[in-house]
Amino acid sequence: MNANLYALFSSKFPKDLSRCCIQTPDDRYYTWLDIERASAKIANLLTSLHLSAGARIAVQVEKSPEALILYLACLRAGFVFLPLNTAYQRTEIAYFIENAEPEVVVCAPSHFGWVSQIAFHAGTRHVFTLDAPLHGNNSGSLLDRATPMSDQFVTVTSQPEDLAAIVYTSGTTGRSKGAMLTHANLASNALALHEAWAWQSDDVLLHALPLFHVHGLFVASHCALLNGSKMIFLPKFDVEQVIQHLPEASIMMGVPTYYVRLLQDQRLNHLLCKNLRLVVSGSAPLLQETFKNFQERTGKTILERYGMSETNILVSNPYEGERKAGTVGLPLPGVDVRIVNAQSQHCENDQIGDIQVKGPNVFCGYWRMPEKTAEEFTPDGFFRTGDVGKFDDDGYLTIVGRSKDLIITGGYNVYPKEIESIIDAMPEVAESAVIGLPHTDFGEAVCAVIVLNEQTQLEANTVIAYLRANIANFKVPKQVFFLKELPRNTMGKVQKNILRNLYQSD
Ligand code: ATP
Ligand code: MG
Repeated sequence: MNANLYALFSSKFPKDLSRCCIQTPDDRYYTWLDIERASAKIANLLTSLHLSAGARIAVQVEKSPEALILYLACLRAGFVFLPLNTAYQRTEIAYFIENAEPEVVVCAPSHFGWVSQIAFHAGTRHVFTLDAPLHGNNSGSLLDRATPMSDQFVTVTSQPEDLAAIVYTSGTTGRSKGAMLTHANLASNALALHEAWAWQSDDVLLHALPLFHVHGLFVASHCALLNGSKMIFLPKFDVEQVIQHLPEASIMMGVPTYYVRLLQDQRLNHLLCKNLRLVVSGSAPLLQETFKNFQERTGKTILERYGMSETNILVSNPYEGERKAGTVGLPLPGVDVRIVNAQSQHCENDQIGDIQVKGPNVFCGYWRMPEKTAEEFTPDGFFRTGDVGKFDDDGYLTIVGRSKDLIITGGYNVYPKEIESIIDAMPEVAESAVIGLPHTDFGEAVCAVIVLNEQTQLEANTVIAYLRANIANFKVPKQVFFLKELPRNTMGKVQKNILRNLYQSD
């Protein structure tokens, strides 16, 4: 059997290939046959370049149906797809290209000059733009070059352990690491999610996520491709466009900030969401308040799940059964999740410890980081996620933070999420981030950074007095800061290292 992920997808394409696979807001339609033929043309072009086996194809382009087709073409031709965040600039791109040594780089026309300089310097043989022809350059874009190619291509035979993609982590806790994912890793997770979220034949996915991250590229697209479902493909998250297309969709996936921003729009209501049957949130913690407000305004209960670049999705609230706010749900079938303490012993329910995971979805290592890879796996083969959490008696997992954000003050462990939840429940507070700052006596001091709701006021002393009455004294922030908004990266993750740097000297 061919373990190539594209072979799995194409075996599930609808019988009628003239149905719509991708629709864009400017009313372009791509049928399943278009996807097959266009990915064949690009696969033929890539093959004609005589790349080495396992060659990386680095792609930093704006989201478009063609960008997704390029990903599928890489799979078909047996090359390793390497998506890069469109926000990355020179220094970042130089790091990724020098680190990954791709044989092909596809970039935005406006970046072509400096990207090609970096790429050729690193030994890359081919640099293309995706679709826009370059001014004064006759070599044409990748799509121009692919157009005369044959629209037939026999998907190459892959082994389950062959690499399909290298995805660089978001860099929230330090320098991004390239997570190496195999065809089998991606296929197992796609099938597990398709089952767990009960995809139905008439589903339509509203796809507003970027394609450079696992959430949009794998979780969202893979489920739709496996289900033969239409995707409404928005170039980016835009409230206007989402509101316009929500009534046509049965499934939406997003990061928590998408739902926060939709809730700020008065047009979000039951009627607008009446065809939605599944609303998924992940990549960052969903506030309980957002969960409740969304339920009240639309009648739909957000399903929160937890995953990462190295594993795709690990844990999900159930499709049938209770979705508990503040938890990420139950381990997916086939995924082993355990919580261990500092002595590597199993934690009881409600005891907080390190989250470790094992399963067919777990990556095979960090690209060119054998020591780091060895460090992050236990002797019995579990991956140390770097997240800290606990199980409740029903088997639901709650994430209390990242081990790197854990605060140790005067020898006591403080888990930011516990304090953030209490602060967030104050009526004046929109959201908060609790961080540790260096402190001469305590090692680290607990500090809170708070964003207030509009037109409210709150004094630092009031917050401190309120917390003193509710939690142990060692957990009470020594300092409280107010900000207009928390620094977030494009996936909606709060960047606590930026906050730590900002307040370090206060
Ligand atoms: P880096 O590993 O480079 O520091 P990163 O961990 O943010 O960056 P990703 O792989 O994009 O990079 O993100 C995975 C992380 O996102 C998880 O380890 C977890 O901390 C967080 N995360 C994902 N889903 C959720 C969720 N539902 N609730 C809380 N945290 C989540
Ligand atoms: Mg990480």
